[in-house]
Amino acid sequence: GPILELKQVGQWFGSFPALAEINLQIQAGERVALVGPSGAGKSTLISLLNGTLFPTQGEVWAIGRNLSMLSPRTLRRVQQQIGTIYQRFHLVDNLRVVHNVNAGHLGRWSWFKSALSLLWPLEVEVAAKALTQVGIPEKLYDRTDQLSGGQQQRVALARVLVQNPTVILADEPIASLDPERSREIMDLLRNLSQSTGKTLVMSLHSIELAQSHCDRIIGLRQGQILFDVPSTAISPEM
Ligand code: ADP
Ligand code: ADP
Repeated sequence: GPILELKQVGQWFGSFPALAEINLQIQAGERVALVGPSGAGKSTLISLLNGTLFPTQGEVWAIGRNLSMLSPRTLRRVQQQIGTIYQRFHLVDNLRVVHNVNAGHLGRWSWFKSALSLLWPLEVEVAAKALTQVGIPEKLYDRTDQLSGGQQQRVALARVLVQNPTVILADEPIASLDPERSREIMDLLRNLSQSTGKTLVMSLHSIELAQSHCDRIIGLRQGQILFDVPSTAISPEM
């Protein structure tokens, strides 16, 4: 079956419907772009897919589980299989890069260990390998807030690589970056998904980048799916 599925999902914030009657199936290994104007519901959809938000109506299934029906412990285990990167990176600014990259599996101790400058050789090795994959191996010991936006997004991507999830979600991953940096991050995401078979779902403003980097494009508007087509079906002028 699908690796991600929304069944009749509605998301109300008070009396405001951010999403309405969303039915959606995503198969393992698909690369899907969510496009649409600001306020269309893209971020809300991503939050539902990683279980940081629970739908007010309908069901969200990920990796074979109904996310609303799980114990906190099982939810965390499912969430280990779902990595998310964000527009503003969601890194801890005052940590060294090596600690941000490992944050996923060091969990709540990463800050503490960083404060004490504790590092285990294996963590250094794991982080160094991930940073090499995203093209910034030399930044291992830099303070995260000393890096450029594009480099910080690479760190966030390296953190997801270390987490090694089945599904990667990206909420406007390039919205804070210049065009050149944007393309580099998009290339990394696509190549990662292609080489490992990971499912990729990301919200994007650029239909051109959606078309060149994803297989399927879902258009959202005012909380509803306007279109859901293979990227080959969209002409670049649209
Ligand atoms: P997009 O990511 O496409 O810009 P969002 O999912 O962020 O859209 O938002 C969809 C709509 O839901 C917007 O009108 C937004 O203001 C509203 N919304 C999102 N989150 C909340 C919230 N926590 N409380 C109230 N309204 C919200
Ligand atoms: P984005 O950059 O994706 O458009 P926003 O700045 O719209 O994000 O939203 C940032 C945060 O604020 C999100 O967690 C979202 O759920 C929340 N949010 C968005 N719109 C509203 C709203 N109208 N009322 C309360 N919270 C909101």
